[in-house]
Amino acid sequence: MKPIFANSAFVTAPERLVLRKGRWRSLPLKVRYGLFRHPEAGLVLVDAGYGPRVVRGARSLALRLYNALFGPKLVEDGQPEAVLRQLGATPADVAVVVLTHVHADHVSTLDLFPQARIIAKTGLLAQVENRGLWQNLNHGVFAELLPKGLAARAADVDGFALRDAPLGLGRGRDLFGDGSVLAIDLPGHAEGHYGLCFAALPVPLLYAVDTQWLLAALPEERQPGFPASLIANDRQALAESARRVLAFRQAGGDVLLCHDPGQSPYDLSEVRP
Ligand SMILES: [Zn+2]
Repeated sequence: MKPIFANSAFVTAPERLVLRKGRWRSLPLKVRYGLFRHPEAGLVLVDAGYGPRVVRGARSLALRLYNALFGPKLVEDGQPEAVLRQLGATPADVAVVVLTHVHADHVSTLDLFPQARIIAKTGLLAQVENRGLWQNLNHGVFAELLPKGLAARAADVDGFALRDAPLGLGRGRDLFGDGSVLAIDLPGHAEGHYGLCFAALPVPLLYAVDTQWLLAALPEERQPGFPASLIANDRQALAESARRVLAFRQAGGDVLLCHDPGQSPYDLSEVRP
């Protein structure tokens, strides 16, 4: 049950902003989301990437500003509908969407999947629904991108049983009851941020999402400072999460991040027939 990861968009940023002592050259950062077929649960999406709702059409002023600032360039054949088509499926076939956190680049095509069961931190979803525009913006959350009633159809990550993850990673929530996919809390980047460990692969994979932007930035001495540190929800927790992810990698695990510009063996372009 190897997951594949598609790239929904590119965002360019100077390397120096996302890597301490990096260069000033511009890096094309990817905005990945994952997809796998679980034998019982069916087609599962991991986050939902950047989509058209961020870059065009009716949007709040705040979202327009956000779009102007980050300027994501959508990859048309990396959008969920196109990727699913390539796999002989449609958005209606997606049974489950696992949301690692609710930043715009992880949720903006969610309205394609009105039937899917959501796995998320349900307390966080309720909080987002209940608090005001500014409080949400303060956490980098655009509630307008979240479909109405999302919390009501979500299962809480923290309601699943705890199980040991491989290679000393600690414990995670067993999302499908068979130990194949464990949700691993990786706090710091955003409220409720967690990653997924694909524990049953020959080489276990940790999708560490936004623990850092670049794999090269996982060691403490390469973690970016200001202004990247401003975005972090909790800087100390972020450093601790990065340590945990790096230790997993050093113990022989594979690590994938959402935005790393490198080509990964899990990237869709490399698994195309
Ligand atoms: Zn994020």
